[in-house]
Amino acid sequence: MQTPHHVPDFFASKVFDEQAMRARLTPEVYRSLKQTIRRGVRLDLSLANAVAAAMCTWAVENGATHFTHWFQPLTGITAEKHDSFITPAPGGRVIMEFSGKELIRGEPDASSFPSGGLRATFEARGYTAWDPTSFAFIKDKTLCIPTAFCSYSGEALDKKTPLLRSMEALNKQALRILRLFGNTAASRVITHVGPEQEYFLVDRDMYLKRKDLIYTGRTLFGANPPKGQELEDHYFGSIKPRVQAYMDDLNEELWKLGILAKTEHNEVAPAQHELAPIYASTNVATDHNQLTMEIMKKVARRHGLVCLLHEKPFAGVNGSGKHNNWSMATDTGVNLLSPGETPYENAQFLLFLVAVIKAVDEYQSLLRLSVATAGNDHRLGANEAPPAVVSIFLGDELSAILEAIEMDSPYEGTAQKKMKLGVDALPRITQDTTDRNRTSPFAFTGNKFEFRMVGSGDSIACANIMLNAAVAEALRQFADILEGAGDFDAILHGLIKETIISHKRILFNGNGYDGQWIEEAVEKRGLLNLPTTPDAMAHLLDKGNMEMLLKNGVFTEGELRSRYEIQLENYTRTVKIEALTMEDMARREILPAVQRYAGSLAAAMADKAKVDPALVSGYEKKASAAISGLLDEIDQAADALAEKLAALDRAVDVTAQALLVKGEIIPAMEALRKPCDKAESMVGQKDWPFPTYGDLLFGV
Ligand code: ADP
Ligand code: MG
Repeated sequence: MQTPHHVPDFFASKVFDEQAMRARLTPEVYRSLKQTIRRGVRLDLSLANAVAAAMCTWAVENGATHFTHWFQPLTGITAEKHDSFITPAPGGRVIMEFSGKELIRGEPDASSFPSGGLRATFEARGYTAWDPTSFAFIKDKTLCIPTAFCSYSGEALDKKTPLLRSMEALNKQALRILRLFGNTAASRVITHVGPEQEYFLVDRDMYLKRKDLIYTGRTLFGANPPKGQELEDHYFGSIKPRVQAYMDDLNEELWKLGILAKTEHNEVAPAQHELAPIYASTNVATDHNQLTMEIMKKVARRHGLVCLLHEKPFAGVNGSGKHNNWSMATDTGVNLLSPGETPYENAQFLLFLVAVIKAVDEYQSLLRLSVATAGNDHRLGANEAPPAVVSIFLGDELSAILEAIEMDSPYEGTAQKKMKLGVDALPRITQDTTDRNRTSPFAFTGNKFEFRMVGSGDSIACANIMLNAAVAEALRQFADILEGAGDFDAILHGLIKETIISHKRILFNGNGYDGQWIEEAVEKRGLLNLPTTPDAMAHLLDKGNMEMLLKNGVFTEGELRSRYEIQLENYTRTVKIEALTMEDMARREILPAVQRYAGSLAAAMADKAKVDPALVSGYEKKASAAISGLLDEIDQAADALAEKLAALDRAVDVTAQALLVKGEIIPAMEALRKPCDKAESMVGQKDWPFPTYGDLLFGV
């Protein structure tokens, strides 16, 4: 595969982007399409036909033979059903054709996608609808058209629909605020996201020897190697040639798809790496992140590697997350989370800032549950970054400013002046580069917030839906107050001050790993600590949460109930597959290996004893007894797990099942893992049935 080496020459070559549109559409069609995209209005059929024809010609010229509506059902991965462009033509020939109808609407057989009861299976058909705000692209000879996926009664069956709704909700409320500050230039407020993607790379041959990696994406067994990440010599370390070749290849693939892959480096754990794109609108960033994950896996195969996107592939080694860098900006290019130059800009910045603070405090549970999966529970509930308690890091400087406003006290930075919003300028807030708190789940980093709880394998859609919706709600309440305000400056000042007072409990600049923080957060500040998915999901249907999401038009009640079902069902199914895999590996691989090893030890001892019992060493007797003990322990723990699994099948509903998983199955899995890992450290290296942590982590 030889591609030109000048990146600008092939960047976005597989995307039907503005440049391609301008080149292939008549000026009138191009202009109408742009209007549609900007204002979100419906495309009429004649326009759609013109766009479809141009798209088809472009796609066929670029090697495509098929097209698909590309969508994001609630399985968490993307779905596609390919149709070819061929249409019969006279004389037994074919032509390549694609109609406007096919572009704007599709009808995948949707009965096998999760709907949580929204769409009874007899009403199998949902439909997909083109999202013109995300460009079509070519992947594997197929023209992919980003689409939303809905039921015939209009309920969202995907992640894109509520994401677009949440962006619209935020747009609406943010514009109200901007108008109050005299901004008439902006016609849209858009949320932007740059997701930093962490991943592990392991050797494919080793991977194929481990059923746990194959079936569950993570190791279910494995003793810690003598060297893990203690020396922290991997972070930003020099990249190994094989990994570098992978990254080069990956970048090229992503660039062709117009994905702005920007930074790449080694992460903290051995074999762990990160890729970050340049930020884009939340909608596009979400589509691009889904594509990025898919391509990361595909390219790995070409290099004899496997890319693990699981949140916790290895126990005792850092897990992988996705830092969701989030901001709001106008279509005229003003970042609303960027402190401005003038007093008015500063006041506006502070209002948007406290809106985020209020939103995160009031809807902590929604943010937490938006990232709740069985895999991510291993990160958030455990002793690593970030914790399961949501809090905000602002840094010292911004914290001091808010405190000065709260206390009506002089702020040091302004030459001992009390600050009157709308009148006094804020001191320049320098981006804190030395004190970047890496343990905070939600950190302000100069002109954006970084939400660090998202799991590495998860879609970023859910987190952004909740974040956008919660901030939209805070802005709505602010706008309601300010629109009727007589003395705007005074009411604005009071509003910011009150918001700080009411929500400062969510602000925390200290170490988020610290056990004491969790205690303080829960006991003194009344923040929520929701370590597991069932703990978090219980809050989705809380009255306040539901009302907010309904009011802002982000979800319907039916959609929320269905998502509750689906997310818990996913949790239970994931862990169940893990438990079954463990049982299988323990019974069919580990027990036989340990038993064989015990047998050879016993045989050697018997041979010696025949000659002279005194020849049998103390080591042999000790090891033999210990290993026999472990055989029984493993056997009993596997039986116990099987019993718990049988009980799971008898549970009445998704909630009961999820609680059983959390309370019974996961502890039984841990109990089975323990003696197996112990056996690994006693059985001869050659006799262990699959590659170890050391092999996997240091084998690339
Ligand atoms: P790090 O957090 O590793 O120091 P950066 O802060 O440079 O890295 O950027 C991390 C991510 O944040 C990148 O994807 C970048 O494009 C994104 N980002 C930068 N500015 C913004 C912004 N205004 N809104 C959203 N994302 C942004
Ligand atoms: Mg970061």
